[in-house]
Amino acid sequence: MTADISLAAGRGYLAIPGPSVIPDAVLQAMHRPSPNIYAGELIDLTATLVPDLRRVARTVHNVAIYISNGHGAWEAALMNTLQPGDKVLVPASGRFALGWGEMAEALGIDVEILDYGTGKPWDMDQVASRLAADRAHQIKAVLAVHVDTSSSIRNDVAAMRACLDATGHPALLMADCIASLGCDRFEMDDWGVDVMVSACQKGLMVPAGMSFVFFSPKAAEARARLPRISRYWDWSPRANPEEFYQYFGGTAPTHHLYGLRAALDLIHGEGIEQVWARHHRLAQAIWAACEVWGSDGPLRMNVQDVALRSNAVTSLHIGGDNATRLRGWLEQNLGLTLGIGLGMAPPNSPEWHGYLRFGHMGHVNGQMIMGLLGGVDTGLKALGIAHGSGAVEAAAQVLAGVRGEQAPDQPATSCCG
Ligand SMILES: *Cc1c(COP(=O)(O)O)cnc(C)c1O
Repeated sequence: MTADISLAAGRGYLAIPGPSVIPDAVLQAMHRPSPNIYAGELIDLTATLVPDLRRVARTVHNVAIYISNGHGAWEAALMNTLQPGDKVLVPASGRFALGWGEMAEALGIDVEILDYGTGKPWDMDQVASRLAADRAHQIKAVLAVHVDTSSSIRNDVAAMRACLDATGHPALLMADCIASLGCDRFEMDDWGVDVMVSACQKGLMVPAGMSFVFFSPKAAEARARLPRISRYWDWSPRANPEEFYQYFGGTAPTHHLYGLRAALDLIHGEGIEQVWARHHRLAQAIWAACEVWGSDGPLRMNVQDVALRSNAVTSLHIGGDNATRLRGWLEQNLGLTLGIGLGMAPPNSPEWHGYLRFGHMGHVNGQMIMGLLGGVDTGLKALGIAHGSGAVEAAAQVLAGVRGEQAPDQPATSCCG
């Protein structure tokens, strides 16, 4: 092969942290004429989505369905629980936590950030002392991003609940599971989460355009206390989709509902525990390869502590402009698209070109991950970027089960001090 022959024809692979790869079953379910929205199949189908969404989130409580991306779900969660002047605490391990905080600020909410940068998890002792100091209970909610897709740090949501309980603080625990849902273990009810936001285009494998806000009875009480609420974002009617889409809310996201039905069938056909286990094993193969590459070259995973690594996304630094060169080479030559770095350096600054991310969420399997890793290995060689050799071999050993487990799929929950 000479360097000027492109090998990109064939099925491309979008390995970015959302939107994720769309299963053929989802695409086929969406490939149809518009249905009757007043009666029949669509109404029946929509009713089946609610219990199956609850099973993914591990909750028996409510879910409101929106026609929006994740930013819409962020806004919906805030609009249904808070009013201007209310205070929220935002422990941040990356760009997405800051983004949710900025949205709250724009709504007139008083936002206090505990910023841990892009390399560290929440400091639960610091969170505990902040909550304990708030004797007047001015903090109405904690905005907790489970997996921050920029840094790929997975924070411990159960520990946040333990922290609220230990300090006797009544603030709502609001979790962003847009990146993690259907990838990393998440237990809404067991972990005492009051509000959880997600969107359909990551672990849920549907094209972008639909989002979800799950809420507990305690969060519903907060909603009931608000003097007014945006008609569009009000979650009460949306948590009853049959009522909502027939009488109140405008046109249903018809094709997305069919797509989501197919995606939920895939998830529950496999079993949510098995879905998490698959993501974890595939992530371990990626980490093993990255460690080998980094053993003799500039590539580094952002998250050093394996217990803090997400199963859905891996944020990497490779220095210089190597990330931009590698992404460009892989897309042009192999049909493989990797994610840009986000929140690690100012956009398009010289440093920005050294960061990238692998998305490994949703519809991914062993041969795809081996293709991703083999592709990256090829790109490193083609571009002359130094790297340890044997990365693909190490990943194969993980997937073959002949290399030991590297980390539990969930850190042991620690209580705060
Ligand atoms: C993708 C993502 C968002 C934003 O979702 P959009 O659909 O792009 O609006 C927010 N939070 C996290 C953790 C995400 O991964």
